Parts: sequence; C-alpha cells; structure tokens
Amino acid sequence: MILSLGNASEKVIEKIRQNLSSRGLENTLVKCAKTTLVVITSDADSLPGHVFSQMDGVQKVVRLSNRSPLGKDSAQTVVTLSPANSNSGLVQLGGGLPPIVVSGPCAIEGREQIIELAHEVKAAGAVALRGGAYKPRTSAYDFQGLGLDGLKYMKEAGLQAGLPVVSEVVSIEQIEPSSPYLDVFQVGARNMYNYELLKELGRQRKPVLLKRGMSATIDELLQAAEYILLEGNLQVILCERGIRTFENRTRNTLDLSAVPVIKSLTSLPVMVDPSHAVGKRDLIASMSRAAIACGADGLIIESHCTPDKSISDAAQAIEPSTLAAIVNDMNTIYAALNPGAALNAMDKTKAKNEISNEAVTISKSSARTLAGAPGS
Ligand code: PEP
Ligand code: MN
Repeated sequence: MILSLGNASEKVIEKIRQNLSSRGLENTLVKCAKTTLVVITSDADSLPGHVFSQMDGVQKVVRLSNRSPLGKDSAQTVVTLSPANSNSGLVQLGGGLPPIVVSGPCAIEGREQIIELAHEVKAAGAVALRGGAYKPRTSAYDFQGLGLDGLKYMKEAGLQAGLPVVSEVVSIEQIEPSSPYLDVFQVGARNMYNYELLKELGRQRKPVLLKRGMSATIDELLQAAEYILLEGNLQVILCERGIRTFENRTRNTLDLSAVPVIKSLTSLPVMVDPSHAVGKRDLIASMSRAAIACGADGLIIESHCTPDKSISDAAQAIEPSTLAAIVNDMNTIYAALNPGAALNAMDKTKAKNEISNEAVTISKSSARTLAGAPGS
C-alpha cells in the first residue's frame, strides 16, 4: 500500500510515519519530484482504507494488492449450511470438500409443492433445499412469492426431508422475520450492489450465498463480499450465475472462468448456478458437469416435480430424475479429478467445524473483535 502525501511538511510526514509504526506497520519514505510517498511494506490489506485516508496530510491511498483482503485471509474456507441440532447432518462446502448440490423450485408455490419436492431432491442427492419466498421479479406484474408463509412451508419441508434451507431476502426489513425459517440467506444477482443489505447480513450469524450481479465484474463481486465479511460474518459463499453478454441463445452467459479466478483470489467457497446462467433445462446437465470439472464447490439448481407448471422460471426447471443424474455425474467427475480427496476432506471438516458459527476476530492488526455482535 502506498500513501501519497503531496508536498506535506516534514512534521506532517513524521506524524504519519509514527502513526504507522504505532500500528506495527513498517514503512519507507520515497521523495519524488512532485510528491512524497510512504510505502507501507507490512501487510496492511486487512485495514479499511479510511484508517489511512483520514490521517492528516494523506492525499491518496493506493492499494497494491488484492481487492479481497478478508475473503483471502480471514473468511472461512469451509462453510456450514446445516443449523446446530438439525436433522440434516453436517452439510458443508468449500476447502476441498467434495462438491454439494442445493436444489428446489425457483419459487415456493405452496405447502404440498415444497414438501413433495423436498423429499424428491433429497432422494436425488441434494443436501440442501432452495426456494424463493421473496421473488425479485423483473416484471411488477409477475408472481412476487408467498413471503413469510412460503418460508414457513419450506422450513417444514426441510425439517421433514432433513435438508437445511436457502432462501433470498431482498430487503433489510425481511431479515429479522425470515431468519427463524431459513438456514442460509441468499442475496440475488439484482441485490449484489445493495451494500446496506450486505452489511446487515454481515451482522447475522448465518451463512450468506452471494450471487454475482448480472453485469458485475469478478472484482465487484469480491468487493461486495467484503461488506459482509467486514461486519463479522465470515460464512460467505460466492455464486457464479451467468452474466449478460451479446449472446442470446442462452439466458445469460455462464462465466466458468470466474470459478478458478475467484479461487485464486479468495478462500471463499464458490458455487455455480447453471439454471439462471443458461435458462434452458436441456443445458443444465452439461454446464453442471463443466462447473464441477473447473473446481466449483457446489451447484444450485432449480427443480420442480412438474417443471412445465412452474410459476416462475419454468424453462430452466428440471425434474428430480434429471437432478439425480447430475449428482451422479458430479460425484464421478470429482472422484476422477481428486483421487483420495474424500478422506482429507473429512479431516478438514472436523478441524473447521470447531470454529464454525463462532464470533471471530477478523484481523490482529486491526484489532477488530467481533465477539458480542448480534446473533440472528
Ligand atoms: C433465484 O435464485 O431464484 C434468482 C432470482 O437468481 P438470480 O438472483 O441469480 O437471478
Ligand atoms: Mn429462478
């Protein structure tokens, strides 16, 4: 990191350097023709930029390294989806664990629908249930979801089938009432830039599945994740769900390169949503296979017992039997690419599970302790 000081006086420069030293940050002074630079040689990435920009005399702060300081170093590589004392067993992803499948309808349409489907997706090999109760629809005239009633139905379905449940919240006001009925908060593509929502989810103690905005760069996705992490919720899963391009044979374009790129930049688990990426049920299986082959930690796939009758996103919904074939392919591909991985993964699971859901200190250098942050 570099601090640009313009033509600050010796006294101001000295004060800044003392401030840095008192934080344990080693630094070097570089006098240029038109400005003085302080180059911080210690790792300062975990400190927010305003710590430096608010120092008297600092004109500009230039970060040299990654955009994802917490995502890289402090986040949990393994995220636990199953709540404590649930009947769903331990459901985890990331950190080299075998990939998982989360599945369910685009929208929760009714109690019977979600209960029947929960049993079907469980039998197909899914380990968590998804379903939208608050639907962010492009048209104001389309079905907007069943709201809290829908979440109650899904919770019941999840308990019956032994599956943790994942659902989207689209506003801060929905977080508190919906929290008892879901295990993972989903942030949809349309809300990736809703930083106030992200901050509030950062104060919860449940994992957050953050989807990439449809026109968001990878860096913007990583920076959005930092809003959640910085508030103390280190259980963040990133999700590639297709981006808008000029191509219109598919609903979006699945950017699979995002998977290895994100993995090289952060330690966060990465899921792929082939359903919203391609929008066509015939393409879901091949894109799922490709996602696993390039290292995705999991898939989130829309399914329905009678796909054509889905109230929303019918064209991309698949039957549970197709889901079962995808799960099978996923396991085959993962095993072929990672011989012997399952055993290691189990060891990691044990180790990581011990810190899961605990209040965590983000970084020693910032001394930002999050113990006592409100639970959910
Ligand atoms: C969804 O998962 O139902 C959804 C609306 O997805 P996205 O936010 O990726 O469009
Ligand atoms: Mn959908």
